[in-house]
Amino acid sequence: MHSKTVRGLIVCSTVGVGHNTLNSGELGLRNSKKMIEILELIDQGEKTLASSGKFGRFGGIFVPETLITCLKKLENEFNWALHDPEFQTELSIALKDYVGRETPLYFAKRFTNYYKNENGEGQEIYLKREDLTYSGAHKINNAIAQVMLAKRMGRKSIAATTGVGQHGVATAAACAKLGLDCTIFMGNIDNERQSSNVHSMKHLGAEVKSVAGTFKDATSEAIRNWTENLEGSYYLAGILVGPHPCPSMVREFQTVIEKETRKQAMEKWGEKLDVLVACVGSGSNALGLFREFVRDENARLI
Ligand SMILES: *Cc1c(COP(=O)(O)O)cnc(C)c1O
Repeated sequence: MHSKTVRGLIVCSTVGVGHNTLNSGELGLRNSKKMIEILELIDQGEKTLASSGKFGRFGGIFVPETLITCLKKLENEFNWALHDPEFQTELSIALKDYVGRETPLYFAKRFTNYYKNENGEGQEIYLKREDLTYSGAHKINNAIAQVMLAKRMGRKSIAATTGVGQHGVATAAACAKLGLDCTIFMGNIDNERQSSNVHSMKHLGAEVKSVAGTFKDATSEAIRNWTENLEGSYYLAGILVGPHPCPSMVREFQTVIEKETRKQAMEKWGEKLDVLVACVGSGSNALGLFREFVRDENARLI
């Protein structure tokens, strides 16, 4: 009997994908219930809770009163940008010519062979090569779009926090393109550990500020810095943690991963992928990839 080829895709960023990813994720065996719950809540939130910006136990817009007006303004700007053809055209040109999209859907032949059983059976494994974007990770998909928004809102400077450094490099690269000042806040330990990324940020014209502590402390410092100049500066969230509308924006600007993946799969085989794997830190590439696939009964999301 002819059996259908099972095709899996892994979002590949700079770290690449190690064998552990597959072993611990049990390729293709389970759906992330929690992820689906989050996705559905966000969607529901957009429809019914949009005005309150609250998402049940997942949080929402829980910030000091002084920030509410600013975040509402940002939400309006974001909603406008989603439907503005001029913004969308400008964004797609930036993604193509500056970021270097679309990224290849790469057949990992040796990786595929490694996981075949004794009978030579297994899945075909593909990598979505986000590592080939300018600055080396999917972070720039979101960074460039948000810097464009900030610029439209008349902001002159961008502040961001980074842990490993990829979001910092992406933000610095986006600011360099659009001519905005850029300050990256990092915990001192990360700052020392990630010296090559710190070098890249500086090389791209960003100022890197070391904050005693970790990512969390650096984030508090960046937000404090932003509240001192709400009209002039912009806090650029790179992760799916933060007040509404930040997570919605990050997800939306990362869906380019999914749109391309669908298109490429259709072009290559005329059918969808069976298994989708994302490496989760805050969840931005996962949400960018799973956004619509989550409604696909047959797609297994890991
Ligand atoms: C940021 C990052 C991740 C995880 O972050 P998400 O927000 O979950 O996408 C994974 N791999 C690389 C290389 C990254 O830069």
